[in-house]
Amino acid sequence: MNTKDKGFNTKLVHAGAYDDVFGSAVTPIYQTSTFAFKSAQHGADCFAGKSDGFIYTRIGNPTTKAFEDAMAELENGFGATATSSGMSAVSSVYMALLGMGKHIVCSASVYGPSRSILERDFSRYGVEMTFVDTSDLSQIKNAIKDNTAVLYIETPTNPTMQLTDIEEASKIAHEHDVTVVVDNTFSSPYLQKPLDLGADVVLHSVTKYINGHADIVGGVIIAKEEVMHKKIRAQMVYLGGNMDPHQAFLTHRGLKTLSIRMERAEANAMKVAEYLEAHPKVEWVLYPGLKSHPQHELAKKQMNGFSSMISFGLKGGLEAGKIVMNNVHLAALAVSLGGVETLIQHPASMTHASMSKEAREQAGISDGLVRFSVGIETVEDIIEDLDQAMAKI
Ligand SMILES: *Cc1c(COP(=O)(O)O)cnc(C)c1O
Repeated sequence: MNTKDKGFNTKLVHAGAYDDVFGSAVTPIYQTSTFAFKSAQHGADCFAGKSDGFIYTRIGNPTTKAFEDAMAELENGFGATATSSGMSAVSSVYMALLGMGKHIVCSASVYGPSRSILERDFSRYGVEMTFVDTSDLSQIKNAIKDNTAVLYIETPTNPTMQLTDIEEASKIAHEHDVTVVVDNTFSSPYLQKPLDLGADVVLHSVTKYINGHADIVGGVIIAKEEVMHKKIRAQMVYLGGNMDPHQAFLTHRGLKTLSIRMERAEANAMKVAEYLEAHPKVEWVLYPGLKSHPQHELAKKQMNGFSSMISFGLKGGLEAGKIVMNNVHLAALAVSLGGVETLIQHPASMTHASMSKEAREQAGISDGLVRFSVGIETVEDIIEDLDQAMAKI
């Protein structure tokens, strides 16, 4: 079915469907490593790109392609490349776009390993880097140099909930021929479409909202233009970070309910954020949906909603945070986010422990920050769970 002119929810359910010989309602799992050619000529044509037949699963697979085609359509890109994990998406993009003597400008407060792999590894290969608060556009302007190849932003950032104006940041970058990459994990295309706002490449950890059921780890990269798509895809194929067909099947299945999961999670998050903001033991709450969020207006402008990630600090600091984390029963004390279940975690000792304390401080990740991923459970139960845990402080 051609879903190009259809609405977002129709695309979620029907885009990328792969017709098989039996007319199965969903794309089957093509659990195969290789594909037989019809003839020597057909094999040669597949390798030469003259035929779009499948060759070998690291290069492409029908189940994975169905998911990739759906993601390309949902993000309004030319094509998508599915990867084994979100970090495989991040590192494939870095590998494709950076090199000896090139420079990257990166949001200071990105997912910990997305920053650490630059500092730890890409620096060893002669890549230069500057980390800035990309929510302040003048810092992006000042950081761009003659050899800058990439502007890498995450918005909202993990876990400080800072937003970067994608449209304005892209304008600045493009004046200097800099490629704009956006990690859209926290929003998903349901809430934000970076390519429509001017970015060149979007990536996701599909482990989070896209799959939404905490049962796989995966990633995807979507490029706006054909040349960029081919460059990134070729890099992924050589690095070998492809998504497995079984993983693709589960992710595509999860994707279909993205809108209704997001709607519920977001409605719950708004209530939880309001509850936290009114609680006497809470010092601060960061949630883009609250009027108190410093970039609430930008969130309304560039997003179709506010997602379901909340960061907060307790008056009792980290010690109080530990009491809450140790006493919740419904919320699981676990990293990851964007699933149907509510999760709570402590970035300074968990997801962002790979960053140095200085880097965390620069990124605004205080030791007392607690991150809450609101799920789709009955919201009164989520609040009651928090309430009884907070009473123990
Ligand atoms: C989790 C996450 C990643 C890394 O994804 P994995 O699937 O864990 O490899 C990258 N960016 C953001 C914003 C994330 O939350």
